[in-house]
Amino acid sequence: MSLRFYDTSARQVREFVPLREGCASLYLCGATVQALPHIGHIRSGVNFDVLRRWLTHLGYDVTFCRNVTDIDDKIIVTAAEEGVPWWHVSERNQRAFTWAYDTLGCLPPTVEPRATGHVPEMIELMQRLIDDGHAYVAEDGSGDVYFDVRSYPSYGELSNQRLDQVQEAADSDPGRDKRDPRDFALWKGAKPGEPSWNTPWGRGRPGWHLECSAMATKYLGPSFDIHGGGLDLVFPHHENEQTQSRAAGDGFAQYWLHNGMLKVGGEKMSKSVGNSLLIPKLIEKVRPVELRYYLTQAHYRSTIDYSDEALAEAAAAYQRVEGFLTRVAETAGEVVPAERVPADFEAALNDDLGVSQALAVVHGHVREGNSALASGGSDKALQYASELRTMLDVLGLDPLGEQWSGSGDQGLTEVVGTLVSVALEQRQAARVRKDFAAADEIRDRLAEAGVVVEDTPQGPRWDLRRG
Ligand SMILES: [Zn+2]
Repeated sequence: MSLRFYDTSARQVREFVPLREGCASLYLCGATVQALPHIGHIRSGVNFDVLRRWLTHLGYDVTFCRNVTDIDDKIIVTAAEEGVPWWHVSERNQRAFTWAYDTLGCLPPTVEPRATGHVPEMIELMQRLIDDGHAYVAEDGSGDVYFDVRSYPSYGELSNQRLDQVQEAADSDPGRDKRDPRDFALWKGAKPGEPSWNTPWGRGRPGWHLECSAMATKYLGPSFDIHGGGLDLVFPHHENEQTQSRAAGDGFAQYWLHNGMLKVGGEKMSKSVGNSLLIPKLIEKVRPVELRYYLTQAHYRSTIDYSDEALAEAAAAYQRVEGFLTRVAETAGEVVPAERVPADFEAALNDDLGVSQALAVVHGHVREGNSALASGGSDKALQYASELRTMLDVLGLDPLGEQWSGSGDQGLTEVVGTLVSVALEQRQAARVRKDFAAADEIRDRLAEAGVVVEDTPQGPRWDLRRG
């Protein structure tokens, strides 16, 4: 089966045909860095990381642009409350987002542009829209620039609304001199004490939608393949991006992919709940790779209803996969990733990134591989393990891959491993001489240091305690 995606704009599954053969250009609306990242923010990053990895696996040369919105109302308010410049807030939060993406194994984008670094491109786009009669400078002297939605007959196309169904744009102050209440802001005139940039129409700061159009076309061209983001961005953000770019004559995105929301108890995440689901809090409960597995296992378009129980189940499922690969590596030798993924895995991901079916293939391999191991068929087990590594790598979940096996500092991990083996040898010696008190003491001291020892038929195994 060829690669196909559900395109929000077409409201159906469409075969993926890139603009340039062998290449795929992907734009993802990244973080608005107004607060620390919680799991809902990072879900989108993980979902589109899987898409990017799959495109790469299929042989596409992928250019992946994920932006940072580093100025907005909340950033300005928070900075004023803290008595610091706006960029203190956005820098701090951007670092936290980068750390969270890295921690969850998202590959860095090809380019990560910031909104405030692209004001000249935004001015150019506004100028084109003004020249063509699609945008106007408010006559009230505010310095606001608006898009005239009645000048563009296809407005509402992406979000499937007719113009008379479209709600009023809420991105400007009440009482501004707009030609139509549905006209959305391209640019917001400066207010005293707020950050602003110079334009031919006075000082001000960018509207959110304009930023993404300017950055997407700068890095991916006037027409590009895929635009992604959360389902909550379809209207007004993506509708307005598409409208202003196409009104200016650009082809813009050929496919629109949207990831579902993450809810808690069926509700949209509130601030207090969001605080308990910050990434550092969650990786006290499970390891980062297990959190990634949890976010990856649901189809990207589905809603995830977060619960601690579901997270723990996901961690246990991942540990079964990891346990098999570790056992194979320990008993049958090095597991070299296979060149190709199994055909049913490929078919599953080609079908709008069907991860549930893909993970069914993964777990099928673990089952078959385990029974091969149990019956002494180590060659067969190795074969399953090789294919497993390749499948898991596409999902960013290969426990033997560089990303996860080192868990940070490889040198330090080796030192700890050596120290633990010394302690375990002494424990073994104490048991042999039937000094069980000494043996137990060694185990307890290791436990205090966070090292859990498990006795297995192949001898003791150790791991670092989580949570
Ligand atoms: Zn955007």
